[in-house]
Amino acid sequence: MRIIPSVLVVEDEAAIAELIIVNMKHNGFRAIWAMDSQGAQREIDAAVPDLILLDWMLPGESGLALAKRWRADARTKSVPLIMLTARGDEADRVAGLDAGADDYIAKPFSTKELLARVRAVLRRRAPEPIGKAISIGGLSLDPETYRVTFNEQSLKLGPTEFKLLYYFMGHSERVHSRGQLLDQVWGDHVYIEERTVDVHVKRLRESIGRAGVMLETVRGAGYRFTANPHVAVSMSD
Ligand code: CA
Repeated sequence: MRIIPSVLVVEDEAAIAELIIVNMKHNGFRAIWAMDSQGAQREIDAAVPDLILLDWMLPGESGLALAKRWRADARTKSVPLIMLTARGDEADRVAGLDAGADDYIAKPFSTKELLARVRAVLRRRAPEPIGKAISIGGLSLDPETYRVTFNEQSLKLGPTEFKLLYYFMGHSERVHSRGQLLDQVWGDHVYIEERTVDVHVKRLRESIGRAGVMLETVRGAGYRFTANPHVAVSMSD
């Protein structure tokens, strides 16, 4: 899961969609709204979200049909999916779960319940929670406050560089290939080339200044973040 999880909200009723989106944003999610199946498919084609909230009754193709289609597609088959619906009887609930939904929420629902279920589904799917701050060689990253410092001085990182650094620091001393980094940091990389990794690693090095020596290029293999770089990091000047 990404550090700021993205939620695709597929809901044709604007008032409900807005309520969900406002609450998701308040609780640290990035929320994207699609009004119908075509809009939803466009969003999915552009980027696979970390979670989908899917209304059952949509104009055109139903939420149930969409769920089945996404479950049959390799790109989306493991994306956590919660169905939203006014249809509360057991047969419907079973149909939703059979179509591959991870959970089911009957309308009307409270935003508290929605959040609790979203978090539960994400926990089940992604066992590692947002981690604690990590410090290596004077460089510190706090995923909760989104802050990065080097020798107590704040650094500015773009969102991708932040995710990349978080991954590197959480898995230091190991060599990661570009393909592994794409899997772990970008998650879904159907449209992303491996050299994209090089571009972001370069930007990351520039962003972290002298701490950049800890991020080593391992020729022919990939990258490694190490507390013991070949060039010593000077902590004093
Ligand atoms: Ca609806």
